[in-house]
Order: sequence, then structure tokens, then C-alpha cells
Amino acid sequence: MNDWTQRTEGIVYQRCSACSHVWYFRRSFCPRCGTTDVAALQASGTGTIYAVTEVMRAPSEPLRAHAPYAIALVDMDEGFRMMAHVERGIDIGGRVRARFVAFGDGIVPQFTRVLP
Ligand SMILES: [Zn+2]
Repeated sequence: MNDWTQRTEGIVYQRCSACSHVWYFRRSFCPRCGTTDVAALQASGTGTIYAVTEVMRAPSEPLRAHAPYAIALVDMDEGFRMMAHVERGIDIGGRVRARFVAFGDGIVPQFTRVLP
């Protein structure tokens, strides 16, 4: 299964087989009901901006070349929320789709506007 954390293009999330709760950070159990019966799924990559902020001063030297850049919390269509880079100038409530870009020494998802 493709996931950007393994340097391949894709976003993986998890879903509880017992209570249907979905979440982003990999766990061996459901954070809601505690069952270990969880499945990893590939996200579609589309979502809606929940919050957005601009980073003017990058936290490390390799990232400095990218500043200023925007970071957003995105409510994914599958029902989980994740933090990722986003095209600058995007508004809360905007529809976005993930693409994958070189950033620092790896690749990261970056969300760009989806036209309605
Ligand atoms: Zn559960």
C-alpha cells in the first residue's frame, strides 16, 4: 500500500472493523473502542480545508528554501483529519486534492485547489 511516509505517493489511513471509526496516525488498536481489528486503507486524496496557517520562518535549514509555505488541517473525504502542506492562498472550506512534492530530504503531500 502506497504511503508518503515510505516515500511513495499515497495517503494511508486506518478504519476500525468493529465501530467504523477512522483515523490517520498508524496504531495497532482503535482509539475509540480499543479493538485490535483495524484495517489500513488507501485514501482518495481529496478533502476540505479545516484550518490553514502560513509558516514564515522554517524550523530547520533544509526547509528554509521553501519558506514561506502554508500548512493546513484537511478533513479528508474518508472522515479523518490530517495535517499537510497546502497551496498558498487557499481558504477554509476550500476543496483540495493531494499531490506529492519533494520537501527537505523526502516527499510530502501538498494539497492544491480543486475547482468546483
Ligand atoms: Zn473501534
